[in-house]
Amino acid sequence: MATPAEHAPCCVGVFGGTFDPIHAAHLRMADAFWQQCALTRLHLIPAGQPYHRQQGPAASATQRLAMVQQAIAGRPGWLADGREVQRGHHAYTIETLEEIRAELPPGCTLWFLVGGDSLENLHTWHRWHHLLDTANLAVAIRPGFDPTRLHPDIASRWQAAQVSDFSNSAPSGTIRALTLPPVPLSATELRARLASGSDCSGLIAKPVLAYIRQHQLYR
Ligand code: ATP
Repeated sequence: MATPAEHAPCCVGVFGGTFDPIHAAHLRMADAFWQQCALTRLHLIPAGQPYHRQQGPAASATQRLAMVQQAIAGRPGWLADGREVQRGHHAYTIETLEEIRAELPPGCTLWFLVGGDSLENLHTWHRWHHLLDTANLAVAIRPGFDPTRLHPDIASRWQAAQVSDFSNSAPSGTIRALTLPPVPLSATELRARLASGSDCSGLIAKPVLAYIRQHQLYR
């Protein structure tokens, strides 16, 4: 029997986030994304200057990129992608996705991973309709996710795409939930734990914790 990878020789995933810092829930999401979408390459893209945040991230863009590099070291096909960090000005997600789409062969499947909370805000994102023209959306449900709060356009796509077969993906335009037990963890909580000196082992990858200590972050 053919494997999903044989059906989709070009299947690229994009996981963007502030990653301030990258944590165990991000890595669980990325693992589920990689496996369930049969990705051949996964770009983890730290945001340069997230335009939707009231306060800037606590670690610099370069430090957040370095932590992503540490967290995924040794995973073939996984890439810490610094394109938003290197841009120097804030990047809209759609611009990044269109840039990646232009780098791919025609017909290549492109997936963009978001948390359920981001899906609830998706209609506020710059040119959000174009996100689905450019990529498929994989959603990692987060505790507290409420599909009734979705924007009607997103809700109708969400309703239409409740299938579990990721092996025959369209190049773009569908929304699917990842099968993933909810992980009640956030970077906000971890920054607070780090600031108070609480133990974060098991919640943040060891090399990332070592980087945080070495650079005295989140004190
Ligand atoms: P912060 O607490 O600083 O807002 P965060 O933990 O939400 O950070 P981000 O870097 O903002 O982390 O997250 C990147 C993406 O991962 C977002 O789409 C977010 O919704 C998703 N995400 C983060 N943590 C989880 C989680 N525990 N479960 C599901 N999705 C998550």
